[in-house]
Amino acid sequence: MSKSAFANRVMDWYDRHKRDLPWRHTRDPYKIWLSEIILQQTRVAQGLPYYLAFVARYATVKELAAAPQDEVLRLWQGLGYYSRARNLHACAKEVVNEYGGKFPGSYQELLKLPGVGSYTAAAIASFVYDEPVAVVDGNVFRVLARVFGIEQDIASPAGKKFFFEKANALISEDKPGIFNQAVMEFGALHCTPKNPACNSCPLAQMCVANQQNLQAHLPVKLARTKVRTRYLYYFVIRKGTQLYLRKRSPGDIWNGLYDFYMWEESKPTTMQQLFKKHNITVRVDRVSDEYKHILSHQKLVARFIEPAEINTVLQKQFKAAGLKLYSKKQIEQLPKPVLISRFLQDAGYLQ
Ligand code: SF4
Repeated sequence: MSKSAFANRVMDWYDRHKRDLPWRHTRDPYKIWLSEIILQQTRVAQGLPYYLAFVARYATVKELAAAPQDEVLRLWQGLGYYSRARNLHACAKEVVNEYGGKFPGSYQELLKLPGVGSYTAAAIASFVYDEPVAVVDGNVFRVLARVFGIEQDIASPAGKKFFFEKANALISEDKPGIFNQAVMEFGALHCTPKNPACNSCPLAQMCVANQQNLQAHLPVKLARTKVRTRYLYYFVIRKGTQLYLRKRSPGDIWNGLYDFYMWEESKPTTMQQLFKKHNITVRVDRVSDEYKHILSHQKLVARFIEPAEINTVLQKQFKAAGLKLYSKKQIEQLPKPVLISRFLQDAGYLQ
């Protein structure tokens, strides 16, 4: 298939079938950037309310840059991958401090911003500035692998490079932004992972996967990331209607979010074993059921312990962990991992 035949058919399909999404009505690089960061590893239906909330709260990159980090994390809460939210904030500050509040105008310059990888830089450069550089996401991998019968592993660096070059060789020079959005949308809605709509596909006659019945085998993804299970034992310490929480530090998941004091184990542990290991005796009022939470490379299994008393050993540990008391109203506003919010809601502490 010729380069233009592929581009024309996909863009023609896009013209007729694209979803009406707010970031498709703007060429404001701030809003395009915001939508791209929010939509990474997030479905459109889940990301849309977050996009609308961010745009409503911060109309410009200057407003976002000036916001307190806790507020940004709170608005992001529930989307996961919190390093993206921190990078979002850091990037806004850099655009304001280093570029006078105006996003840089080329792919290479955009790549220098925090949290902006080749995907986001290509999206902004092509959607806003018409620079012919291809955006390659999971949808693009799938469409190209199937249409052109590419068997390279999309998880390998060599495979990624191959697909990036292929997409750049196919891009429309006249309408690179439309081309990029068209291929992604085509992958999201038509050439889907399961049950692609081959019978009504404008590319069916030239699609290698369709001709050779390889839809289920393409794209090829060989690398598998091992999932680690972590067992977290949280201490819920109350003082009247207030709770002790701490702000999490860098170097682990949820940097900058708030949770309880916690002990971690690599396997399930009884309360008896747990206290024995830490060499203290604690009378316990309540221990919650298990709360499970899945992250990209980790499975978390948490229990929430409500001690009947706080002895001096525990007191010392809590102090060293930097716990502080927060009222119900404050806790509502703090950025928290979804796991913690779930417990607080179940325990009747939050609505
Ligand atoms: S024919 Fe099927 S596999 Fe090929 S591009 Fe169309 S939907 Fe995808």
